[in-house]
Amino acid sequence: MRKMKTGKMKSENFNNFNKYLEKRIRDTVEKYKLIKPGEKVAVALSGGKDSVLTLHILNELRKDFNFDLLAISIHEGISGYRREGLKIAEKNADDMGVELVKKFFKDEFGFGIDDISNLYKSACIPCGVLRRYLLNKTAYEIGASKIATGHNLDDEVQSFLMSFARADFRKFGKFGPKSRKIHPKLVPRIKPLWNIPEREVGIWAVLNNIGAHFAECPYSHMSLRSKTKDFLNKMESERPGTKLGILKSFEKTFKPEETSPELYECQKCGETSSLEVCKVCEMLDDIKKVI
Ligand code: SF4
Repeated sequence: MRKMKTGKMKSENFNNFNKYLEKRIRDTVEKYKLIKPGEKVAVALSGGKDSVLTLHILNELRKDFNFDLLAISIHEGISGYRREGLKIAEKNADDMGVELVKKFFKDEFGFGIDDISNLYKSACIPCGVLRRYLLNKTAYEIGASKIATGHNLDDEVQSFLMSFARADFRKFGKFGPKSRKIHPKLVPRIKPLWNIPEREVGIWAVLNNIGAHFAECPYSHMSLRSKTKDFLNKMESERPGTKLGILKSFEKTFKPEETSPELYECQKCGETSSLEVCKVCEMLDDIKKVI
């Protein structure tokens, strides 16, 4: 008897938590007008808990907000890591009947991150640049009008502090729950989980027994992000509310539209770039000289 009562209470708690999370994300989509009726939204689906939650919630919202949904998965060529994530992405997309477009670094560039990781101080440098490029190119080719990423509150605050510490003002245009369309070939990004702490995304995945990929990338320890993350988690445990405070300060202080760079088309590949030749072409030239 007692067992039944406990089980019922647990399932009520699950439902309440799910409703609370969905409401907060729905409020963000509405408040910041992230999606317009008739749009085609592509979720950047890595198989990690954040992108899987983004897919689940947008799938719930797509009828109310009247938009098309599909997903894009990028395989960067990181052995023992990305293949598992990709399997989870396929399963979740399949379960929801969402089309999944898969792209591979090896097909696009002729190498994976494992092949070039020793050329850089951190594998995240080429990985981030090449993944953003391939994601945007794919979204543009399939006619998506928005890319939805799984960036949560923790990711946003980390990115903000990293750019702030490097005085990389051009990156400030990327912050906030949505980016503007500043070039016809640049697909704007939206972040429905923008104000959801990573901890709550983890709780959602565990409570709902979601098959999400929890493994850490073998290169993540090399990144500045991982050090920033540790610092912020320490601050948060000593002074709860620190992360949300930084996010709110950013929202009040910075105007992303005033910091967006002017974009052109790269003279070599035709993709968007703030310089004559884009960072990707420059990077590929350097890599091809040594591999
Ligand atoms: Fe790529 Fe770095 Fe992320 Fe690993 S941690 S997937 S190398 S950006």
